[in-house]
Amino acid sequence: NWEEIIQKLKIEHSLTDVSFKTWILPLRVYKVTSNTVYILVNLKASIDYIKNKYLLPFQVCIAEVVGKEYEVKFIAENEFDPKDFEDKTATPKSKVTVSQAANLNPKYTFDTFVVGGNNNFAHAASLAVAESPGEVYNPLFLYGGVGLGKTHLMHSIAHFILENEPEKKVLYVTSETFTNELIEAIKNGKTGNESAMTAFREKYRSIDVLLIDDIQFIIGKESTQEEFFHTFNHLHISGKQIIISSDKPPKDIETLEARLRSRFECGLVADISSPDYETRMAILRKKEELDGLDKYNIPDAVMQYIASNVKSNIRELEGSLNKLIALYKLKNAPIDINLAAEALKDIVSPNENRQVTPELILDVVSEHFNISIADLKSGKRNAEIAIPRQIVMYLCRTMTDTPLKAIGLTLGGRDHSTISHGVDKVTADIKASDTFSNTIDIIKKKLNPV
Ligand code: ADP
Ligand code: MG
Repeated sequence: NWEEIIQKLKIEHSLTDVSFKTWILPLRVYKVTSNTVYILVNLKASIDYIKNKYLLPFQVCIAEVVGKEYEVKFIAENEFDPKDFEDKTATPKSKVTVSQAANLNPKYTFDTFVVGGNNNFAHAASLAVAESPGEVYNPLFLYGGVGLGKTHLMHSIAHFILENEPEKKVLYVTSETFTNELIEAIKNGKTGNESAMTAFREKYRSIDVLLIDDIQFIIGKESTQEEFFHTFNHLHISGKQIIISSDKPPKDIETLEARLRSRFECGLVADISSPDYETRMAILRKKEELDGLDKYNIPDAVMQYIASNVKSNIRELEGSLNKLIALYKLKNAPIDINLAAEALKDIVSPNENRQVTPELILDVVSEHFNISIADLKSGKRNAEIAIPRQIVMYLCRTMTDTPLKAIGLTLGGRDHSTISHGVDKVTADIKASDTFSNTIDIIKKKLNPV
């Protein structure tokens, strides 16, 4: 049982061999009472560290293996007093709570991340940071092209820390959110609400682990960079962990001020590149398993076909598999190479000089707001969908020469007056709101990277 528990711990918490050997293997079970497991630690010096890192993981794994929740107590081997272990049934059972910050995707964990030659360095660095936030690489700067797993790794770090040290304040934001909150605070400050700026600073300076995604979108705005610079310094000096992602290494982000660039380079810069064929296959297989697609018995040849043809973007790799299953359900045709070819047909490739088309706009807007293309085309009128839909209208109108009527067709058959109204609405909103205008700028950058 113990062997099973520690193996589970090792796997579920992605322990490296070295941390497993150092911390976990030497542990011995001293005694098990009706609701407590006592574990002997050979080195007194490591007891606090082990408590901090592994108390919750042990509780979870024990509960999963044994099927019952136990409290876990660590005691140093050379100084235990048998009296301490009298069953104190009165003490309330510590609850296995896993706190989750609202803006983390529960699917993006180390467990679901496939490690390959393209990302093993970034993965190892992320895990080290997650195991010892603020102590190893600070800041950790992850960079790589679109859809290669930066956001997935960042969320994994955040989940890992929250699970092991739930008292830690972990905040994940996109640089868009950071910028928009700052714009709001500045605006409110100007209209007399002095505390808005203070509240903003308190929020960002009181956290233990700050993850800022897609820093390349802190663009051309000096006030944003200035504020971020101070936030960064404040956290860094206090030994708080900062994790940053970008599509390029610091030295290549032209709009970045030199002082920020040098700050970003003072920790560890790790890149993620495109996955090789083996890794693409492994990712497809992992997704098949996680999404319960085994039941479709997708032939090897079909997986290989997808892995050979979708090379540079993992989101598209996953999208192809989804499309394949959707086509299969729609047509009830056998899952074979023909169906796979059809599924790949309209995957939008992110090559260098790609053209901005209504399809690409739908794709990018749906990803940006995390809503489906089907919803964008649907009749739903709630703001979370209606606003992104109007943004699609606006971008099609201003970035392509698609006629209003054709835009209407792209959006599930809307008439041209609806489109024209949407375009006017977005145009007016851009003028009226700096945060809205910032968001539109960022989506345009995603469509047309420089
Ligand atoms: P980025 O932030 O670099 O644009 P994401 O982290 O959003 O990319 O990844 C895009 C998609 O690909 C996500 O669904 C993510 O789960 C998946 N993905 C990326 N890398 C891996 C990996 N190594 N293993 C499993 N899934 C991955
Ligand atoms: Mg991302």
